Amino acid sequence: MQELTHYINGEHVSGASGRFADVMNPATGEVQAKVPLATVEEVNAAVAKAAEAQKIWGATNPQKRARVMMKFGALINEHMDELAELVAREHGKTLPDAKGDVQRGLEVIEVCMGAPHMLKGEFTDAGGPGIDLHSMRQPLGVVAGITPFNFPAMIPLWKMGPALASGNTMVLKPSERVPSTALRLAELLKEAGLPDGALQIVNGDKEAVDALLDNDTIQAVGFVGSTPIAQYIYSRATANGKRAQCFGGAKNHMIIMPDADMDKAADALVGAGFGAAGERCMAISVAVPVGQETADALVERLVPRIEALKVGPYTAGDDVDFGPVITAASQARINGLVQSGVDQGAKLVVDGRDFSLQGYENGFFVGPSYFDNVTPDMDIYKEEIFGPVLSQVRTDNYEDALSLVMDNEYGNGTAIYTADGDTARDFAHRVNVGMVGINFPIPVPLSYHTFGGWKKSAFGDLNQYGPDAFRFYTRTKTVTSRWFSGIKEGGEFNFKAMD
Ligand code: NAD
Repeated sequence: MQELTHYINGEHVSGASGRFADVMNPATGEVQAKVPLATVEEVNAAVAKAAEAQKIWGATNPQKRARVMMKFGALINEHMDELAELVAREHGKTLPDAKGDVQRGLEVIEVCMGAPHMLKGEFTDAGGPGIDLHSMRQPLGVVAGITPFNFPAMIPLWKMGPALASGNTMVLKPSERVPSTALRLAELLKEAGLPDGALQIVNGDKEAVDALLDNDTIQAVGFVGSTPIAQYIYSRATANGKRAQCFGGAKNHMIIMPDADMDKAADALVGAGFGAAGERCMAISVAVPVGQETADALVERLVPRIEALKVGPYTAGDDVDFGPVITAASQARINGLVQSGVDQGAKLVVDGRDFSLQGYENGFFVGPSYFDNVTPDMDIYKEEIFGPVLSQVRTDNYEDALSLVMDNEYGNGTAIYTADGDTARDFAHRVNVGMVGINFPIPVPLSYHTFGGWKKSAFGDLNQYGPDAFRFYTRTKTVTSRWFSGIKEGGEFNFKAMD
Protein backbone atom coordinates (compact mmCIF):
# COMPACT_ATOMS: atom_id res chain seq x y z
CA MET A 1 0.00 0.00 0.00
CA GLN A 2 1.45 3.37 -1.01
CA GLU A 3 1.91 5.71 1.96
CA LEU A 4 1.81 9.36 0.92
CA THR A 5 3.63 12.17 2.72
CA HIS A 6 3.54 15.86 3.49
CA TYR A 7 5.87 18.16 1.53
CA ILE A 8 7.79 20.35 3.95
CA ASN A 9 10.83 22.52 3.26
CA GLY A 10 11.30 21.05 -0.20
CA GLU A 11 11.15 17.42 0.90
CA HIS A 12 8.66 14.63 1.31
CA VAL A 13 8.08 14.05 5.03
CA SER A 14 6.22 11.13 6.56
CA GLY A 15 3.27 11.87 8.80
CA ALA A 16 3.91 11.75 12.54
CA SER A 17 0.34 11.49 13.81
CA GLY A 18 -0.27 7.80 13.13
CA ARG A 19 -3.62 8.88 11.65
CA PHE A 20 -4.30 8.24 7.97
CA ALA A 21 -7.16 8.61 5.49
CA ASP A 22 -7.80 6.15 2.69
CA VAL A 23 -7.27 7.43 -0.85
CA MET A 24 -9.70 5.44 -2.96
CA ASN A 25 -9.73 4.35 -6.57
CA PRO A 26 -13.32 5.46 -7.25
CA ALA A 27 -13.57 3.22 -10.33
CA THR A 28 -12.86 0.01 -8.39
CA GLY A 29 -13.84 0.97 -4.86
CA GLU A 30 -10.39 -0.14 -3.64
CA VAL A 31 -8.05 1.73 -1.32
CA GLN A 32 -5.02 2.69 -3.42
CA ALA A 33 -3.00 4.77 -0.93
CA LYS A 34 -2.98 6.14 2.58
CA VAL A 35 -2.52 9.82 3.26
CA PRO A 36 -1.26 11.10 6.62
CA LEU A 37 -3.46 13.46 8.63
CA ALA A 38 -1.36 16.17 10.25
CA THR A 39 -1.43 17.14 13.90
CA VAL A 40 -1.57 20.71 15.20
CA GLU A 41 2.17 20.50 15.94
CA GLU A 42 2.99 19.38 12.39
CA VAL A 43 0.92 22.22 10.95
CA ASN A 44 2.52 24.80 13.23
CA ALA A 45 6.01 23.57 12.33
CA ALA A 46 5.16 23.85 8.60
CA VAL A 47 3.89 27.40 9.14
CA ALA A 48 7.03 28.39 11.06
CA LYS A 49 9.26 27.17 8.20
CA ALA A 50 7.06 29.00 5.70
CA ALA A 51 7.56 32.21 7.72
CA GLU A 52 11.36 31.79 7.46
CA ALA A 53 11.09 31.17 3.72
CA GLN A 54 8.89 34.25 3.29
CA LYS A 55 11.75 36.51 4.39
CA ILE A 56 13.76 35.36 1.37
CA TRP A 57 10.91 34.93 -1.12
CA GLY A 58 9.17 38.19 -0.21
CA ALA A 59 12.45 40.06 -0.74
CA THR A 60 12.96 38.49 -4.18
CA ASN A 61 12.02 41.02 -6.83
CA PRO A 62 8.71 40.44 -8.66
CA GLN A 63 10.40 39.76 -11.99
CA LYS A 64 12.46 36.95 -10.49
CA ARG A 65 9.32 35.50 -8.91
CA ALA A 66 7.63 35.74 -12.31
CA ARG A 67 10.51 33.79 -13.86
CA VAL A 68 9.85 30.96 -11.40
CA MET A 69 6.24 31.03 -12.59
CA MET A 70 7.41 30.88 -16.23
CA LYS A 71 9.53 27.81 -15.54
CA PHE A 72 6.71 26.27 -13.49
CA GLY A 73 4.29 26.80 -16.39
CA ALA A 74 6.75 25.14 -18.78
CA LEU A 75 7.13 22.17 -16.41
CA ILE A 76 3.36 21.78 -16.06
CA ASN A 77 3.11 21.63 -19.85
CA GLU A 78 5.95 19.13 -20.04
CA HIS A 79 4.27 16.93 -17.41
CA MET A 80 0.70 17.43 -18.63
CA ASP A 81 -0.01 13.74 -19.28
CA GLU A 82 1.49 12.62 -16.00
CA LEU A 83 -0.45 15.24 -14.01
CA ALA A 84 -3.71 14.38 -15.79
CA GLU A 85 -3.18 10.72 -14.97
CA LEU A 86 -2.63 11.59 -11.28
CA VAL A 87 -5.85 13.62 -11.29
CA ALA A 88 -7.86 10.87 -13.00
CA ARG A 89 -6.48 8.08 -10.81
CA GLU A 90 -7.66 9.64 -7.56
CA HIS A 91 -10.65 11.67 -8.73
CA GLY A 92 -12.03 9.31 -11.40
CA LYS A 93 -12.65 11.92 -14.11
CA THR A 94 -11.82 11.09 -17.73
CA LEU A 95 -8.35 11.92 -19.08
CA PRO A 96 -9.53 14.72 -21.41
CA ASP A 97 -11.39 16.24 -18.46
CA ALA A 98 -8.34 15.79 -16.21
CA LYS A 99 -6.19 17.61 -18.79
CA GLY A 100 -8.75 20.43 -18.73
CA ASP A 101 -8.34 20.52 -14.93
CA VAL A 102 -4.57 20.99 -15.29
CA GLN A 103 -4.95 23.38 -18.24
CA ARG A 104 -7.33 25.79 -16.45
CA GLY A 105 -4.90 25.88 -13.53
CA LEU A 106 -1.97 26.47 -15.86
CA GLU A 107 -3.76 29.46 -17.37
CA VAL A 108 -3.74 31.14 -13.95
CA ILE A 109 -0.01 30.45 -13.65
CA GLU A 110 0.38 32.16 -17.05
CA VAL A 111 -1.24 35.31 -15.63
CA CYS A 112 1.13 35.06 -12.65
CA MET A 113 4.03 35.37 -15.11
CA GLY A 114 2.88 38.99 -15.37
CA ALA A 115 3.13 39.53 -11.60
CA PRO A 116 5.41 42.61 -11.88
CA HIS A 117 2.65 44.34 -13.84
CA MET A 118 -0.12 43.13 -11.52
CA LEU A 119 1.80 44.35 -8.47
CA LYS A 120 2.60 47.83 -9.76
CA GLY A 121 1.45 50.58 -7.45
CA GLU A 122 -0.13 53.96 -8.18
CA PHE A 123 1.43 57.40 -8.23
CA THR A 124 0.09 60.93 -7.96
CA ASP A 125 2.47 63.65 -9.00
CA ALA A 126 2.10 67.00 -7.17
CA GLY A 127 -0.99 66.13 -5.18
CA GLY A 128 -0.20 69.35 -3.25
CA PRO A 129 2.70 71.84 -3.20
CA GLY A 130 5.80 69.63 -3.37
CA ILE A 131 3.69 66.66 -2.39
CA ASP A 132 3.66 63.33 -4.22
CA LEU A 133 1.79 60.18 -3.28
CA HIS A 134 2.57 56.61 -4.16
CA SER A 135 1.04 53.34 -3.15
CA MET A 136 2.67 49.94 -3.17
CA ARG A 137 1.38 46.40 -2.83
CA GLN A 138 3.21 44.33 -0.25
CA PRO A 139 2.81 40.62 0.43
CA LEU A 140 0.81 39.57 3.49
CA GLY A 141 3.33 37.01 4.79
CA VAL A 142 2.29 33.37 5.21
CA VAL A 143 -1.11 32.42 3.80
CA ALA A 144 -3.13 29.20 3.81
CA GLY A 145 -4.96 27.42 1.00
CA ILE A 146 -7.61 24.77 1.64
CA THR A 147 -8.96 23.03 -1.45
CA PRO A 148 -11.73 20.58 -2.47
CA PHE A 149 -11.60 17.18 -4.18
CA ASN A 150 -13.22 18.06 -7.48
CA PHE A 151 -10.35 19.93 -9.16
CA PRO A 152 -7.16 18.36 -7.77
CA ALA A 153 -4.87 20.46 -10.02
CA MET A 154 -6.81 23.58 -10.98
CA ILE A 155 -7.84 24.90 -7.58
CA PRO A 156 -4.48 24.32 -5.83
CA LEU A 157 -2.93 26.20 -8.80
CA TRP A 158 -5.47 29.02 -8.43
CA LYS A 159 -4.35 29.35 -4.82
CA MET A 160 -0.59 28.84 -5.01
CA GLY A 161 0.05 30.88 -8.19
CA PRO A 162 -1.19 34.35 -7.17
CA ALA A 163 -0.19 33.88 -3.50
CA LEU A 164 3.41 32.99 -4.35
CA ALA A 165 3.77 35.42 -7.26
CA SER A 166 2.72 38.20 -4.85
CA GLY A 167 5.63 37.33 -2.53
CA ASN A 168 3.79 35.33 0.11
CA THR A 169 4.62 31.82 1.17
CA MET A 170 1.80 29.31 1.43
CA VAL A 171 0.73 26.30 3.45
CA LEU A 172 -1.67 24.34 1.26
CA LYS A 173 -3.97 21.64 2.59
CA PRO A 174 -5.36 19.78 -0.40
CA SER A 175 -8.38 17.53 -0.19
CA GLU A 176 -7.44 14.32 1.59
CA ARG A 177 -9.32 12.41 -1.13
CA VAL A 178 -6.99 13.59 -3.94
CA PRO A 179 -3.65 14.59 -2.38
CA SER A 180 -1.13 13.35 -4.99
CA THR A 181 -1.48 16.08 -7.62
CA ALA A 182 -0.70 18.91 -5.18
CA LEU A 183 2.35 16.98 -3.92
CA ARG A 184 3.63 16.61 -7.50
CA LEU A 185 2.99 20.30 -8.24
CA ALA A 186 5.09 21.20 -5.20
CA GLU A 187 7.97 19.11 -6.60
CA LEU A 188 7.68 20.90 -9.95
CA LEU A 189 7.70 24.30 -8.23
CA LYS A 190 10.93 23.37 -6.47
CA GLU A 191 12.39 22.36 -9.84
CA ALA A 192 11.25 25.73 -11.20
CA GLY A 193 13.35 27.50 -8.56
CA LEU A 194 10.96 28.15 -5.68
CA PRO A 195 12.96 28.29 -2.41
CA ASP A 196 12.39 25.44 0.02
CA GLY A 197 9.60 26.12 2.49
CA ALA A 198 7.82 28.67 0.29
CA LEU A 199 5.13 26.11 -0.54
CA GLN A 200 4.36 23.62 2.22
CA ILE A 201 1.85 20.87 1.55
CA VAL A 202 0.23 19.63 4.72
CA ASN A 203 -2.19 16.77 4.31
CA GLY A 204 -4.98 16.44 6.80
CA ASP A 205 -8.56 16.82 7.87
CA LYS A 206 -10.42 19.17 10.23
CA GLU A 207 -7.61 19.04 12.80
CA ALA A 208 -5.11 20.44 10.29
CA VAL A 209 -7.58 23.02 8.97
CA ASP A 210 -8.41 24.28 12.46
CA ALA A 211 -4.70 24.51 13.27
CA LEU A 212 -4.24 26.75 10.22
CA LEU A 213 -7.23 28.89 11.19
CA ASP A 214 -5.91 29.36 14.72
CA ASN A 215 -2.27 29.95 13.85
CA ASP A 216 -1.38 33.63 14.41
CA THR A 217 1.28 33.65 11.69
CA ILE A 218 -1.26 32.83 8.96
CA GLN A 219 -2.43 36.15 7.51
CA ALA A 220 -5.04 35.01 5.01
CA VAL A 221 -7.08 31.94 4.15
CA GLY A 222 -8.23 31.00 0.66
CA PHE A 223 -10.80 28.22 0.80
CA VAL A 224 -12.85 26.37 -1.81
CA GLY A 225 -15.36 23.64 -0.89
CA SER A 226 -18.92 23.12 0.25
CA THR A 227 -21.03 25.99 1.62
CA PRO A 228 -21.33 24.87 5.27
CA ILE A 229 -17.55 24.45 5.54
CA ALA A 230 -16.92 27.71 3.64
CA GLN A 231 -19.15 29.53 6.12
CA TYR A 232 -17.43 27.89 9.09
CA ILE A 233 -13.94 28.67 7.82
CA TYR A 234 -14.86 32.25 6.99
CA SER A 235 -16.22 32.86 10.51
CA ARG A 236 -13.32 31.26 12.33
CA ALA A 237 -10.61 32.81 10.15
CA THR A 238 -12.06 36.32 10.35
CA ALA A 239 -12.75 36.00 14.10
CA ASN A 240 -9.01 35.29 14.38
CA GLY A 241 -8.27 38.49 12.49
CA LYS A 242 -7.35 36.93 9.16
CA ARG A 243 -8.31 37.97 5.67
CA ALA A 244 -10.52 35.23 4.20
CA GLN A 245 -12.19 34.38 0.92
CA CYS A 246 -14.22 31.19 1.04
CA PHE A 247 -15.96 29.85 -2.06
CA GLY A 248 -18.84 27.44 -1.54
CA GLY A 249 -21.39 25.27 -3.29
CA ALA A 250 -23.80 26.00 -6.10
CA LYS A 251 -27.08 25.27 -7.84
CA ASN A 252 -26.69 26.61 -11.35
CA HIS A 253 -29.71 27.21 -13.57
CA MET A 254 -29.90 27.46 -17.33
CA ILE A 255 -32.89 29.31 -18.81
CA ILE A 256 -33.96 28.14 -22.26
CA MET A 257 -36.08 30.70 -24.11
CA PRO A 258 -38.55 29.59 -26.81
CA ASP A 259 -36.39 31.26 -29.48
CA ALA A 260 -33.22 29.35 -28.51
CA ASP A 261 -31.56 26.88 -30.83
CA MET A 262 -32.94 23.74 -29.13
CA ASP A 263 -30.27 21.36 -30.39
CA LYS A 264 -27.48 23.60 -29.18
CA ALA A 265 -29.27 24.08 -25.84
CA ALA A 266 -29.71 20.32 -25.43
CA ASP A 267 -26.05 19.65 -26.25
CA ALA A 268 -25.01 22.31 -23.76
CA LEU A 269 -27.24 20.87 -21.03
CA VAL A 270 -25.83 17.39 -21.48
CA GLY A 271 -22.23 18.61 -21.30
CA ALA A 272 -22.79 21.03 -18.43
CA GLY A 273 -25.15 18.77 -16.50
CA PHE A 274 -23.36 15.44 -16.71
CA GLY A 275 -19.70 16.24 -17.51
CA ALA A 276 -17.38 15.23 -14.66
CA ALA A 277 -20.37 13.30 -13.25
CA GLY A 278 -21.89 16.65 -12.24
CA GLU A 279 -19.06 17.18 -9.74
CA ARG A 280 -18.36 20.75 -10.81
CA CYS A 281 -19.30 23.87 -8.90
CA MET A 282 -20.24 25.34 -12.30
CA ALA A 283 -22.26 22.33 -13.45
CA ILE A 284 -25.77 23.14 -14.65
CA SER A 285 -28.10 21.18 -12.39
CA VAL A 286 -31.39 22.93 -13.22
CA ALA A 287 -32.85 23.39 -16.72
CA VAL A 288 -35.48 26.14 -16.83
CA PRO A 289 -37.41 26.04 -20.10
CA VAL A 290 -39.78 28.93 -20.70
CA GLY A 291 -43.15 27.70 -22.02
CA GLN A 292 -44.56 24.19 -22.26
CA GLU A 293 -43.54 23.78 -25.91
CA THR A 294 -39.93 24.62 -25.09
CA ALA A 295 -39.98 22.11 -22.24
CA ASP A 296 -41.41 19.35 -24.45
CA ALA A 297 -38.89 20.11 -27.19
CA LEU A 298 -36.10 19.78 -24.66
CA VAL A 299 -37.35 16.46 -23.29
CA GLU A 300 -37.51 15.11 -26.82
CA ARG A 301 -33.89 16.10 -27.47
CA LEU A 302 -32.40 15.40 -24.06
CA VAL A 303 -33.62 11.84 -23.52
CA PRO A 304 -31.73 10.21 -26.43
CA ARG A 305 -28.64 12.28 -25.71
CA ILE A 306 -28.62 11.33 -22.02
CA GLU A 307 -29.30 7.68 -22.73
CA ALA A 308 -26.34 7.63 -25.12
CA LEU A 309 -23.87 8.85 -22.46
CA LYS A 310 -21.04 6.41 -21.80
CA VAL A 311 -20.11 6.01 -18.16
CA GLY A 312 -16.88 4.23 -17.24
CA PRO A 313 -13.38 4.34 -15.75
CA TYR A 314 -10.85 6.79 -17.22
CA THR A 315 -8.80 3.82 -18.40
CA ALA A 316 -11.59 2.77 -20.82
CA GLY A 317 -10.63 5.41 -23.41
CA ASP A 318 -11.50 8.91 -24.50
CA ASP A 319 -15.04 8.13 -25.61
CA VAL A 320 -16.12 7.74 -21.95
CA ASP A 321 -18.29 10.75 -21.09
CA PHE A 322 -17.91 10.65 -17.33
CA GLY A 323 -16.49 8.50 -14.56
CA PRO A 324 -17.49 7.46 -11.06
CA VAL A 325 -18.34 9.86 -8.23
CA ILE A 326 -15.81 10.38 -5.49
CA THR A 327 -16.92 8.06 -2.66
CA ALA A 328 -19.37 5.30 -1.80
CA ALA A 329 -21.09 7.78 0.55
CA SER A 330 -21.53 10.25 -2.30
CA GLN A 331 -22.92 7.49 -4.54
CA ALA A 332 -25.43 6.49 -1.86
CA ARG A 333 -26.41 10.12 -1.21
CA ILE A 334 -27.04 10.83 -4.90
CA ASN A 335 -29.14 7.68 -5.33
CA GLY A 336 -31.07 8.63 -2.17
CA LEU A 337 -31.77 12.11 -3.53
CA VAL A 338 -33.03 10.63 -6.82
CA GLN A 339 -35.41 8.44 -4.80
CA SER A 340 -36.56 11.51 -2.86
CA GLY A 341 -37.39 13.21 -6.17
CA VAL A 342 -39.59 10.27 -7.14
CA ASP A 343 -41.23 10.22 -3.67
CA GLN A 344 -41.89 13.97 -3.78
CA GLY A 345 -43.63 13.77 -7.15
CA ALA A 346 -41.11 14.75 -9.83
CA LYS A 347 -41.20 12.81 -13.08
CA LEU A 348 -38.05 10.68 -13.47
CA VAL A 349 -37.57 10.64 -17.23
CA VAL A 350 -34.15 8.93 -17.23
CA ASP A 351 -33.21 6.82 -14.19
CA GLY A 352 -29.49 6.32 -13.54
CA ARG A 353 -29.73 4.61 -10.19
CA ASP A 354 -29.25 0.99 -11.19
CA PHE A 355 -26.20 1.60 -13.28
CA SER A 356 -23.59 -1.15 -13.01
CA LEU A 357 -20.48 -1.83 -15.05
CA GLN A 358 -19.13 -5.32 -15.55
CA GLY A 359 -15.77 -5.72 -13.81
CA TYR A 360 -16.34 -2.49 -11.82
CA GLU A 361 -19.27 -3.54 -9.66
CA ASN A 362 -17.64 -2.03 -6.55
CA GLY A 363 -16.83 1.28 -8.24
CA PHE A 364 -18.74 4.42 -7.26
CA PHE A 365 -20.61 4.76 -10.53
CA VAL A 366 -23.93 6.52 -10.87
CA GLY A 367 -25.76 6.63 -14.19
CA PRO A 368 -27.28 9.89 -15.49
CA SER A 369 -30.73 10.87 -14.18
CA TYR A 370 -33.10 13.45 -15.64
CA PHE A 371 -36.19 14.78 -13.86
CA ASP A 372 -39.05 16.77 -15.36
CA ASN A 373 -41.79 18.66 -13.46
CA VAL A 374 -39.49 19.54 -10.57
CA THR A 375 -40.76 22.20 -8.15
CA PRO A 376 -38.70 24.46 -5.86
CA ASP A 377 -39.94 22.77 -2.66
CA MET A 378 -38.40 19.39 -3.59
CA ASP A 379 -35.10 18.23 -2.07
CA ILE A 380 -33.62 17.57 -5.52
CA TYR A 381 -34.12 21.28 -6.24
CA LYS A 382 -32.98 22.60 -2.85
CA GLU A 383 -29.85 20.45 -2.35
CA GLU A 384 -26.60 20.72 -4.23
CA ILE A 385 -26.60 17.11 -5.47
CA PHE A 386 -23.07 17.20 -6.93
CA GLY A 387 -23.82 14.19 -9.12
CA PRO A 388 -25.10 13.37 -12.62
CA VAL A 389 -28.66 14.52 -12.03
CA LEU A 390 -30.45 17.20 -14.09
CA SER A 391 -33.70 18.69 -12.82
CA GLN A 392 -36.12 20.48 -15.14
CA VAL A 393 -38.35 23.20 -13.69
CA ARG A 394 -41.00 24.35 -16.16
CA THR A 395 -41.91 28.06 -16.18
CA ASP A 396 -44.53 30.07 -18.04
CA ASN A 397 -42.55 33.18 -18.90
CA TYR A 398 -39.18 34.89 -18.68
CA GLU A 399 -39.96 36.82 -15.49
CA ASP A 400 -40.89 33.60 -13.66
CA ALA A 401 -37.70 31.94 -14.88
CA LEU A 402 -35.61 34.92 -13.77
CA SER A 403 -37.31 34.98 -10.33
CA LEU A 404 -36.54 31.30 -9.85
CA VAL A 405 -32.84 31.93 -10.40
CA MET A 406 -32.91 35.08 -8.25
CA ASP A 407 -34.70 33.37 -5.35
CA ASN A 408 -32.23 30.48 -5.17
CA GLU A 409 -29.89 30.75 -2.21
CA TYR A 410 -26.81 30.01 -4.33
CA GLY A 411 -25.37 32.40 -6.90
CA ASN A 412 -22.30 30.84 -8.50
CA GLY A 413 -23.09 30.50 -12.21
CA THR A 414 -26.07 30.71 -14.52
CA ALA A 415 -26.78 30.70 -18.25
CA ILE A 416 -29.43 31.70 -20.74
CA TYR A 417 -30.00 30.29 -24.23
CA THR A 418 -31.81 32.72 -26.49
CA ALA A 419 -31.63 34.33 -29.92
CA ASP A 420 -32.78 37.69 -28.55
CA GLY A 421 -30.12 40.19 -27.55
CA ASP A 422 -32.45 42.28 -25.42
CA THR A 423 -33.48 39.30 -23.30
CA ALA A 424 -29.87 38.22 -22.93
CA ARG A 425 -28.78 41.69 -21.92
CA ASP A 426 -31.63 42.11 -19.46
CA PHE A 427 -30.77 38.76 -17.87
CA ALA A 428 -27.07 39.53 -17.53
CA HIS A 429 -27.87 42.91 -16.03
CA ARG A 430 -30.53 41.89 -13.50
CA VAL A 431 -29.58 38.41 -12.30
CA ASN A 432 -27.98 38.18 -8.84
CA VAL A 433 -25.38 35.57 -9.76
CA GLY A 434 -21.61 36.02 -10.04
CA MET A 435 -20.89 34.39 -13.41
CA VAL A 436 -23.30 34.53 -16.33
CA GLY A 437 -23.26 32.66 -19.65
CA ILE A 438 -25.14 33.82 -22.75
CA ASN A 439 -25.47 30.85 -25.08
CA PHE A 440 -22.52 29.55 -23.04
CA PRO A 441 -23.31 26.85 -20.47
CA ILE A 442 -20.31 26.90 -18.10
CA PRO A 443 -19.18 30.52 -17.90
CA VAL A 444 -15.91 30.04 -16.01
CA PRO A 445 -14.16 33.32 -16.81
CA LEU A 446 -10.76 33.23 -18.49
CA SER A 447 -7.81 33.55 -16.13
CA TYR A 448 -7.24 37.30 -16.62
CA HIS A 449 -10.80 38.00 -15.43
CA THR A 450 -11.84 36.67 -12.02
CA PHE A 451 -13.94 33.83 -10.65
CA GLY A 452 -16.47 34.11 -7.86
CA GLY A 453 -20.11 33.56 -6.96
CA TRP A 454 -22.66 35.60 -5.04
CA LYS A 455 -25.03 34.77 -2.19
CA LYS A 456 -24.22 31.47 -0.42
CA SER A 457 -21.65 30.55 -3.05
CA ALA A 458 -18.97 32.83 -1.64
CA PHE A 459 -18.05 34.45 1.67
CA GLY A 460 -15.64 37.35 1.90
CA ASP A 461 -14.45 39.97 -0.53
CA LEU A 462 -12.69 39.72 -3.86
CA ASN A 463 -12.72 36.89 -6.37
CA GLN A 464 -10.25 34.16 -7.15
CA TYR A 465 -7.47 34.63 -9.76
CA GLY A 466 -7.06 37.59 -12.10
CA PRO A 467 -6.55 41.10 -10.67
CA ASP A 468 -8.67 40.37 -7.57
CA ALA A 469 -6.30 37.60 -6.46
CA PHE A 470 -3.36 40.01 -6.45
CA ARG A 471 -5.44 42.40 -4.36
CA PHE A 472 -6.40 39.61 -1.95
CA TYR A 473 -2.82 38.42 -1.46
CA THR A 474 -1.29 41.89 -0.94
CA ARG A 475 -1.92 44.86 1.29
CA THR A 476 -1.67 48.41 0.08
CA LYS A 477 0.62 50.95 1.67
CA THR A 478 0.34 54.58 0.59
CA VAL A 479 3.20 57.02 1.08
CA THR A 480 2.69 60.80 1.07
CA SER A 481 5.96 62.65 0.65
CA ARG A 482 6.82 66.33 0.56
CA TRP A 483 10.01 67.85 -0.84
CA PHE A 484 10.58 71.53 -0.58
CA SER A 485 12.59 72.37 -3.67
CA GLY A 486 9.64 73.13 -5.93
CA ILE A 487 8.02 75.39 -3.34
CA LYS A 488 10.99 77.64 -2.72
CA GLU A 489 10.74 79.18 -6.16
CA GLY A 490 7.27 80.56 -5.46
CA GLY A 491 8.47 81.58 -2.00
CA GLU A 492 4.99 82.44 -0.85
CA PHE A 493 3.62 79.19 0.43
CA ASN A 494 2.78 78.93 4.10
CA PHE A 495 3.65 75.39 5.17
CA LYS A 496 2.22 75.86 8.66
CA ALA A 497 -1.22 76.39 7.17
CA MET A 498 -0.91 73.02 5.41
CA ASP A 499 -0.28 70.95 8.57
P1 NAD B 1 -15.62 19.99 1.44
O1 NAD B 1 -16.21 21.25 1.97
O2 NAD B 1 -16.08 18.71 2.01
O3 NAD B 1 -14.03 20.01 1.62
C1 NAD B 1 -13.23 21.09 1.19
C2 NAD B 1 -11.99 21.17 2.08
O4 NAD B 1 -12.40 21.43 3.42
C3 NAD B 1 -11.16 19.90 2.10
O5 NAD B 1 -9.81 20.23 2.06
C4 NAD B 1 -11.56 19.25 3.42
O6 NAD B 1 -10.53 18.49 3.99
C5 NAD B 1 -11.89 20.44 4.31
N1 NAD B 1 -12.92 20.14 5.30
C6 NAD B 1 -13.98 19.28 5.15
N2 NAD B 1 -14.73 19.26 6.28
C7 NAD B 1 -14.15 20.12 7.14
C8 NAD B 1 -14.47 20.55 8.48
N3 NAD B 1 -15.53 20.08 9.12
N4 NAD B 1 -13.66 21.44 9.07
C9 NAD B 1 -12.59 21.95 8.42
N5 NAD B 1 -12.24 21.57 7.16
C10 NAD B 1 -13.00 20.68 6.53
O7 NAD B 1 -15.82 20.02 -0.15
P2 NAD B 1 -15.53 18.87 -1.21
O8 NAD B 1 -16.55 17.80 -1.07
O9 NAD B 1 -14.09 18.50 -1.20
O10 NAD B 1 -15.78 19.67 -2.57
C11 NAD B 1 -17.04 19.80 -3.19
C12 NAD B 1 -17.69 21.14 -2.86
O11 NAD B 1 -16.83 22.21 -3.27
C13 NAD B 1 -19.00 21.37 -3.60
O12 NAD B 1 -19.92 21.95 -2.71
C14 NAD B 1 -18.62 22.35 -4.71
O13 NAD B 1 -19.70 23.14 -5.18
C15 NAD B 1 -17.60 23.16 -4.01
N6 NAD B 1 -16.73 23.85 -4.96
C16 NAD B 1 -16.87 25.22 -5.05
C17 NAD B 1 -16.08 25.91 -5.96
C18 NAD B 1 -16.20 27.41 -6.07
O14 NAD B 1 -15.26 28.03 -6.58
N7 NAD B 1 -17.27 28.02 -5.62
C19 NAD B 1 -15.16 25.23 -6.76
C20 NAD B 1 -15.06 23.83 -6.63
C21 NAD B 1 -15.85 23.17 -5.71
